Amino acid sequence: MEYDITIVGAGIHGAGVAQAAAAAGYKTLVIEQYKQPGLGTSSRSSKLIHGGLRYLETAQIGLVWECLNERHRLLKNAPHLVKLVPFYIPVYKQTRRGPFTIMLGLMLYSVLGGKGFNKIPRSKWNQLDGLKTDGLKAVFQYWDAQTDDRLLTETVLKSAVQLGADVELGCQFRHAMTESGTCVIDYEKDGQTRTIKSRVLINASGPWINSTLNKIKPSPRKLEIDLIQGTHILVSGSQKQGVYYLEAPQDQRAVLIMPWYGEILIGTTEIEYQGDPEDVAPTETEIDYLLGVYQLYFSQAVDRSHIKSSFAGLRVLKRDGESIFHRSRETTLHVDKKNSPMVLSIYGGKLSSYRATGEKVIKKLAKLLPKRTAIANTRILELPNLKS
Ligand SMILES: Cc1cc2nc3c(=O)[nH]c(=O)nc-3n(C[C@H](O)[C@H](O)[C@H](O)COP(=O)(O)OP(=O)(O)OC[C@H]3O[C@@H](n4cnc5c(N)ncnc54)[C@H](O)[C@@H]3O)c2cc1C
Repeated sequence: MEYDITIVGAGIHGAGVAQAAAAAGYKTLVIEQYKQPGLGTSSRSSKLIHGGLRYLETAQIGLVWECLNERHRLLKNAPHLVKLVPFYIPVYKQTRRGPFTIMLGLMLYSVLGGKGFNKIPRSKWNQLDGLKTDGLKAVFQYWDAQTDDRLLTETVLKSAVQLGADVELGCQFRHAMTESGTCVIDYEKDGQTRTIKSRVLINASGPWINSTLNKIKPSPRKLEIDLIQGTHILVSGSQKQGVYYLEAPQDQRAVLIMPWYGEILIGTTEIEYQGDPEDVAPTETEIDYLLGVYQLYFSQAVDRSHIKSSFAGLRVLKRDGESIFHRSRETTLHVDKKNSPMVLSIYGGKLSSYRATGEKVIKKLAKLLPKRTAIANTRILELPNLKS
């Protein structure tokens, strides 16, 4: 079998590239090791389709602008999956960023494509899900969007299939040779090795990215990365108003507390991870940290007995000498050969910008691929509703 584009990984990036490739008319194959799409990082995120207000602090304006644009498109093209929700930022006496700084950030966010913001009057603070008001100076409210990340990934992949892409689930990518101007790719399914040919190979394997590159001959250059673990816990209880954007007092990191299918989702932490991505799991310290932040800000008593589940995912951050917080969250498209790439790897990135990333990947490779006729435009293509 001969493909134009073969993609390793059916996380959001693999699904997004498959959708963009199939929409552009290319013969596309996705290989995924798990039996369902999205079971890697793309089901362990904070589930936000957002510009990332906090990235303004590190001047990642392009990223925020792109993600807000994509949020706008997803609200139109997938209203069943991506919904605007109110976000609240309570500012306490001890909060590192004061009301004026928060207001400036929200003004810039609005200019870049946010949907405005306001200050919640003191008389309405008692409607904020039991938020503690001791030392509270102001509460700001703005808008961002929430999704079900695993379902979004499955839906984007389904859209790719509707456009003609082939998907092989439960398959291990084993090996590729790129010497002959064609990628000869071996993958394993049901204990048997299958071999296909493809003009290009897209490495969308998330935290497995460099181990995928290790399986390619001649060996492409790899970027140095750190894997950063982020943990969420799901606790019983209800949160009616929306998402709370809080600051952990011990390290001033943002912690989000949000409604999730009738329960409360609390996350996330950031710690360096060294092991196999397969084995990533919440640590006891992270669970205590998240429970502690919730308890500090909300009057409802929550302890370990309220935890219904927990999960951890891995961010791929390029190593650049900066602290984790200051490192770029931009997506890097890294090719094996500058002029005639055969392998393109997607390092890092955001759930929110998956469609734009897919589009960029195809644009980067278009002149190397055979001429095909586009059959859809992902900017306006509605995503299917898998639940109907
Ligand atoms: C804690 C956390 C919170 C986040 N929150 C947000 C958020 O709220 N909003 C946002 O926009 N972004 C968020 N992100 C970022 C976003 O989740 C990720 O950028 C995105 O999910 C990465 O998707 P991916 O497709 O690159 O990787 P993955 O989802 O990990 O997919 C890689 C896939 O490759 C497969 N694979 C690997 N090796 C092989 C092989 N040899 N053979 C076959 N298949 C293979 C894996 O099984 C996996 O399915 C968050 C990230 C983290 C870690």
